[in-house]
Parts: sequence; C-alpha cells; structure tokens
Amino acid sequence: MSLRDKLLLAQAPLALALLLVGVVAVNTLGRVGRAGQDILADNYRSVLAMQRIGEHLERLDSAALFIVVDERERGQELAGAHLQPLEAELKVQEGNVTEPGEAEATSQLRRAWARYRSAYEAFAIAEAPEARRAAYFDALAPAFREAKAATQTLLALNQDAMVRKSDALQRKSRRVNSLMVTAVVVALVGGFLASASLTQRALRPVSVLSQAVRRLGQGDLATRALVQGQDEIAQLARDFNSMAEALQRYRRSSLGELLQAQASSQASIDSLPDPVVVFGVEGGVLNVNRAAEEVLRLSVEGGGALGQVAPEVREVLERVCSHVLGGKGPYLPRGYEEAVRVEGAEGDRWLLPRGSPVYGEAGGVVGATVLLQDVTRLRRFDELKNDLVATVAHEFRTPLTSLRMAIHLCAEGVVGPITEKQADLLHAAREDCERLQGIVDDLLDLSRLQSGRVVLEVRPVSTEAVLEAALAPHRVSAEERGVRLSMSQEPGLERVEADPDRLQLVLSNLVANAVRHTSHGGEVVVRARSDGERVRFEVADTGEGISPEHQQRIFEKFYRVPGANTGGAGLGLSIAQEIVQAHGGEMGLSSEPGVGSTFWFTLPSSLQAEGDS
Ligand code: ADP
Repeated sequence: MSLRDKLLLAQAPLALALLLVGVVAVNTLGRVGRAGQDILADNYRSVLAMQRIGEHLERLDSAALFIVVDERERGQELAGAHLQPLEAELKVQEGNVTEPGEAEATSQLRRAWARYRSAYEAFAIAEAPEARRAAYFDALAPAFREAKAATQTLLALNQDAMVRKSDALQRKSRRVNSLMVTAVVVALVGGFLASASLTQRALRPVSVLSQAVRRLGQGDLATRALVQGQDEIAQLARDFNSMAEALQRYRRSSLGELLQAQASSQASIDSLPDPVVVFGVEGGVLNVNRAAEEVLRLSVEGGGALGQVAPEVREVLERVCSHVLGGKGPYLPRGYEEAVRVEGAEGDRWLLPRGSPVYGEAGGVVGATVLLQDVTRLRRFDELKNDLVATVAHEFRTPLTSLRMAIHLCAEGVVGPITEKQADLLHAAREDCERLQGIVDDLLDLSRLQSGRVVLEVRPVSTEAVLEAALAPHRVSAEERGVRLSMSQEPGLERVEADPDRLQLVLSNLVANAVRHTSHGGEVVVRARSDGERVRFEVADTGEGISPEHQQRIFEKFYRVPGANTGGAGLGLSIAQEIVQAHGGEMGLSSEPGVGSTFWFTLPSSLQAEGDS
C-alpha cells in the first residue's frame, strides 16, 4: 500500500465517525420533524374544523334570529352561506378521528347537527311570527347549544392532545439533543484517536529513516534504516541503505588507497638516506623520514616539536622553513659553510639544508620540505681543498715576493740596461704578478675568515667616512669609464659598529664590481640606512645585471658569470659575504639583466644603538 493510501486510510475513522454522526442526526431530526407534523395533521386540523364549525353555528344562529325578527330574506341568505361549509368541515372532522373518545364525540356532533338541521327546516317553514319564535326557542336554540357543546368537547379533546403531544415532543427533542452531543463527542474522540494511531503507524518508518540519516551524518557508515513494506518510505529506506553501503565501500576503498599512497610516500622518503622534514603552512612538523628520526631525534608522534632537536639544527630548520613559507621560493645553500654539525654515535655529521615549497591545488604554498643533505665527506673535501688552497697560497707568497722584487729590479734597470721590448715584457710580467699577489692575498684572507681565525676589531665608525673611503679608490676608474659615482646616507645614521677596514673592504669590492659591470653613462650609488634592528648598506648600479640562474651561485668561491667582463678570480663576493657574516649580518642581491643590480648587506645595529646613547 502506498504512503498516500495509508495516510488516506488513517483519515477514514474520523470520516466514518462524522458520517455516523451525520446519519444519526438526519434520522433523529426526521423523526422529530415527523412527530411535529403528526401533531399538525392529527389535532391541529380538528381544532381548526371545530373552530370553523363553531363560527358557522354562530352565524346560523344569527340567521335564525334574523328570521325570528322577520328579516327572513337576510336570514335565509346568511344561513345559506354557512350550511354547506359547516357540512364540509364536519366531514373533515369525521375523516380525522385520531384521539381516543374522539369518534364518539364526533358522532355526537353529527347527531346534534342532524337535530339542528331538522329543527331548522321546521323553523324555516313556520309562517307566523309566534310559531317561528316558539320553533326557535323550543327546538332550534337547544339543538344549537347541543351542537356547540359537542364542538367544544371535540375542540378541548384535540387541544389537550396537542398540549400533551407537544410536551412529549419537547422531552424527546431534549433527549435527542443530549444523545446527539454524546454521539458527536464519542465519534470525534474515537475517530481522532483511531486516525492519530493510524497516522503514527504510517509515519513511524519516517522517524526510523530520519534517525538513520542522523547517524550517517555523524559518521556511522554502518547504520541502516530497517523499514518493511512496499510504500514510498520503504523504497526511500532501501535507497538510503544502498547509498550507505556504497559510502562504506567507498570509504573502505579510498581509505585503503589513501593508506597505501601514504605508506608508499612514507616509504619513498624513508628510503632517502638524508633527513627530510615536512612542515605545514603554520610551520609545524607534519612528517619526517626515518633518517630524520635517527639523526635529528625528531618524531611526529612526539608532537613534531622542534624543541627536541639540537639548537643549531633547529635554527637552520626554522630559517629554511620561514624562507620557503615566506614565499621566497626554494632555499638553496650558498656553500658547504652553511652545513650544520650534528653529533652522532659514528662521529659528527655535517648536514647541508635545502628547502622546497609544497604547493596546494590552488597554487599557493601549503608547506615546506626541508632536506638536510649529508655533506660530511664533501665538506671534508672542501676543507681539504681550502687547506690545500691556503697552503698553496701561503707557499706562493714568498716566491711571489722574490719574483716581484726581481721583476721590479730588472724593470727599473738596476741590474743592467734593458731594451724597450724587454721593458714591455717585464711590465706585463709585473702586472700578472700583481694580479697573482691579489689572488693569493684574497685566498689567504678567505681561508682565515672561513677558519674563524680573523678577529674583528669592532668599534664605532663614521658611516660617511666608511662610504667615502670605499668610493675614493674607484673615482678615477669610474671617471675613465664615464660612470657617475655617488653616495647617500640616511640623516641621523652617523655611526655604525663594525671593523672599519673590513667594512671598507666589503664596500670597496662591491663598488669595484659595480663600476666594472656598468657601461658608459651609467651610475653607481652607495647608500646606508637604518632598517629596523639593522643598518643596511646598498650598492646599486645601472649596469648589465645578472640573470637569475647565476644570482644563486654568485657568492660561491671562484664563481664567475660565464662570459662577463671580470678582472678577478671570483673571490671578491665570497670574501665580502664572509666578512658580513662574521659581523652577524646577511648579504644578498636583487638584479635584473639589462637594468642593473643592487647588492646589499645588513649589520646588526645593537652596538650602534649603545654607541648613540
Ligand atoms: P670577481 O672578483 O671575479 O669580480 P666576484 O666574486 O666579485 O669575483 O664576482 C663574481 C661574479 O659576479 C663576477 O664574475 C661578475 O660576473 C659578477 N658580478 C659581481 N658584481 C656584479 C655587478 N655589479 N654587476 C654584474 N655582475 C656582477
């Protein structure tokens, strides 16, 4: 049975009750109406007939009196008008005998009337006035009174019956009234209760279904709606059950696939020999590989807090993570010097950090992966190389000095006269020696800086003096190349805390590069300004610029941009960066090929603040 039929059926008891009440009401009202009609038909008609007969009798008596006073014509005319109607009314009464005793009273009336008629006929033919009067008083008047009395009897009889019947009708209608009220109440209550219970029964599956839907919404995919039957709700419940089953199957399969995918991605990063740490967008650790657990003693189960790892490793991880999450792109180390030392059971390890962004579907950065590449061996090689370079450079110094001296003495003709050609060759040799000496000096400088053997002599220095001293050696070459040199300094920034010679060397290297890489008509500006907690120096040029692929590597030792006009061995920027870092600062650049480059570095201004106060 369909839900519609069930709901219709549920209304049936109420409708049935109403029908029953209606039938009873119609029936009862019909009976009451018929009883009223009976009264009208049985008695009221007789009452009417008796009243009319009484009136006719009165008129006939008046007609007789007219005749008595000798107005015969008028009397006979009046009598003629009432004789027939009275007869007719008497017939009506004879046909409407309904009450006990009424038949006798009616025949009594009939007899009285017959007597009156015969007396009237005798009276009508009497000519003499005395005879008429005697006929009237002796026969007609008594017959009149007799007929009148019979009429009164019948009238009273019927009126009494009317009163009696009307009383009975009234009582009956009162009974019917209360019966009707009771019937209505019983029918309505019964019908309502039956309808409510049927409706509830029809709708119980809806609540079963709704409970199942609620449980499914709360994540209980095993829930099912148990509804029997063939109606729409049962169909809906079956559809719901198949949906829940499909969802459960999907969850099982997608969960399985997800777990499989997770396991394989975990296995992939676990297979890497180097520690890998994955950060979420908020900077919390989302995942680590086995190497990270072993080497860094970092685990996601422990809440992934970086507090467990050694402070220097934590500092590196946080720096790389904030670089990547800050939207600055992948983090690439500048050299092995960035490697961080981690103590382990098999000795110390050196780990070089690299960071790559994890992109979300919308293209935004949603995390960062930091790989700590084990460069222990490479770093050892680098150290060996540095040592070798430093040793070689050191060993070069003494012979180079003698070589320079010898060339100088020869070139100056101290050891004998030389030809012009010999002089040219000696000049060229002297220039190469100078260059070689510069490279050797740079290498030794760099090796000292890298090994931390350089002790900085930090003191308050006039910013203007440093800038001026850095620009001065390059003014001539800048003028020769047609490059404008200028400096600008933020008002109020009078002093900076630094090793003046080293700071000047950094600035001088940057200005030399800027002038060298800027063509005729270009400009080089050196600026100094305060940048929050730091003092920021900038050397900006309008030169050839550096393409992005070289920008990352430009601070590496011996790195030179291929094909660029360069005079050095690719050590200037490495030395400058080492000096800045030794001051606790940072160095970087922004450059656009064809537009120009800006090299910048910052120095902590805490000492400068103290110097000001
Ligand atoms: P070098 O002493 O050989 O100049 P550096 O370390 O100072 O070595 O510079 C490394 C490389 O960076 C150079 O080969 C040069 O090509 C490039 N470079 C440095 N400064 C600039 C600049 N201002 N504009 C363009 N290229 C530059």
